[in-house]
This record gives sequence, C-alpha cells and structure tokens, in this order.
Amino acid sequence: MVDVKEVADKIYRLETPIPGVYGIFVVYLIHEPQGVLVEPGPAAAVPLIREGMSYVGMKDLAYIIPTHIHMDHGGGMGALAQLFPKAKVLVHPRGARHAIDPSRLIEGTRMVFGADFEAHYGPILPVPESQVYVPEDGEVISVNGRELQIIYAPGHAQHHIAIFDRSVRGLFCGEALGMPVDRTKPFAFPSVAPPNFDQELYLSTIEKLRQLDARILLYSHGPAVQREPETLIESVVENTQVFGDLILNAMKEGESYQAIGRRLADHMESRFGIRVDEAGLAMIVGGYTMYYKSKGLA
Ligand SMILES: [Zn+2]
Repeated sequence: MVDVKEVADKIYRLETPIPGVYGIFVVYLIHEPQGVLVEPGPAAAVPLIREGMSYVGMKDLAYIIPTHIHMDHGGGMGALAQLFPKAKVLVHPRGARHAIDPSRLIEGTRMVFGADFEAHYGPILPVPESQVYVPEDGEVISVNGRELQIIYAPGHAQHHIAIFDRSVRGLFCGEALGMPVDRTKPFAFPSVAPPNFDQELYLSTIEKLRQLDARILLYSHGPAVQREPETLIESVVENTQVFGDLILNAMKEGESYQAIGRRLADHMESRFGIRVDEAGLAMIVGGYTMYYKSKGLA
C-alpha cells in the first residue's frame, strides 16, 4: 500500500521506496482539475505513483516537473510522459535535449549508479519532443488559478529548478536546499554530487530561494517541513561552507580521498551524531574535490 499524505492544501506527498536501494524518494502530487506531479523519481516508481494518483483521485496529469534530470529525480519522466500524452514535461533549458535524447544521461547514470542501474531503478525513456516545455526563470504556470513559479536553481546541477507554489508559500526545493538529515532535528547537509556541483552557485541559489520566505519546504529526499524553514536554510548554508573548508584544507595537505572522507565522517559524527555511509561520503567528497580542482584551488 502506498503511503499518501496531504502536506498542504491539495499537495500530496508520497514516498516511493525502491527495493534494494537505500534512501528516500519523494513524489508530490498537486490535485487540481489539471493535475501536477513534481519529481517523478526513477521509472521504478511509476507503479506507486499510479497507485498514489488513484488514491487521491487524480486521473490525468497536465504537468510533470522534475527539479532536475538526474535519474533519481527525473528518470521516470519519459515513462510518465508516454502514459500521460497530454502532459507537458517542464525542464530547464540545459536539461531539455537530454530529456528528448537521454543517451548521455544514461551513460552518466551508469557511471554513478552502476552499469546495471536499470535492474533496480528502471529504464530512462525519452520524452517526446512535443511534450517538453522549457520555462523561463521566474515564469509562472497557472493551474486552476494556483500560481507555480519556476525558479532556476543551479549549484547541485546546472539544470536544477525549484518550484514555488504561491498559494501555500510552499517551495519544492529538490536538492537546492540540501537535505534534512534527521527528521527530529533542524539541520541539513548540502546535496553534493560530482561532476557538476558548484559551491558558489549553490550558495547563491540558496540565498535567492531564501528571499521567497517560504512557509513550507517540500524536500525530495526528506520530509515536508513547516517548522523552522529558516533554521534549516541557515544550517545548509553553514554546512556547505564548513564541509567545503574541511575538504579544501585536506586537499591542500595532500590527503587521499579516503582520508578526506574519514575526516568528514568524524566531523559529522562529533558535530551532529550522524553516520553517513561510504557511498554518501564518496558523493560529497567527489563533488567538492572536482569543483575545487576545476577552480584551480587545489
Ligand atoms: Zn541530483
């Protein structure tokens, strides 16, 4: 049974766990006469999404909006577009051609998630070109009078967008505001992944999103948070900086990636009591080190 909860007026949150895969994948449904889906997730999530839609009473989709095209957020957009041929798939201009022809996306996904990723996550299918819609930065999509503002939010990836629902002041932030690590405590770690993480852009995007003064943060790898959005935002800013400084200093001292990972793990444990698994650490260390090298800082 799929677990669906209304987290704000007509916004439903459902988790779509992937068998054999660690982590939280969240899909949001906005139940207006024209249905909206934010964050398709991998194709393996499609059956649960259909279950969630029928539970809520949604028959069709007018908009499918991945925050970015990384497989764990947008992998299922092609499969969903084919199931709902009237729907438009909204993607950042830098993501559009990869949605239409996902061959490079598939190649990159194999590198990050393994050659056999399809066995767990399902295939990445192309989105028919006629269904792709590229919004401008700041553009407002009106859905039955409900205003959804699209905001370019680069940093985690260049093709990242956030969606601000003005009716409830809810922000679908994807990975642009990091991820809350512990549901009971108001702190968040940055979402860092190679090869395109850009610390400077990430921080300026957070600042841009902070200005929206959202009342509810709708995370893609976490909960919908109404308490203390400001504290979570401050926390992700601080941790983006502190993790970065720690990694950059270790690089300058010539430490190996493994040693840097251990240093970061010790910091997370002593400061927050959190243990991050090897794969998670490798993502963070990989993202920052590539960024610092590309900037010529280490
Ligand atoms: Zn991502």
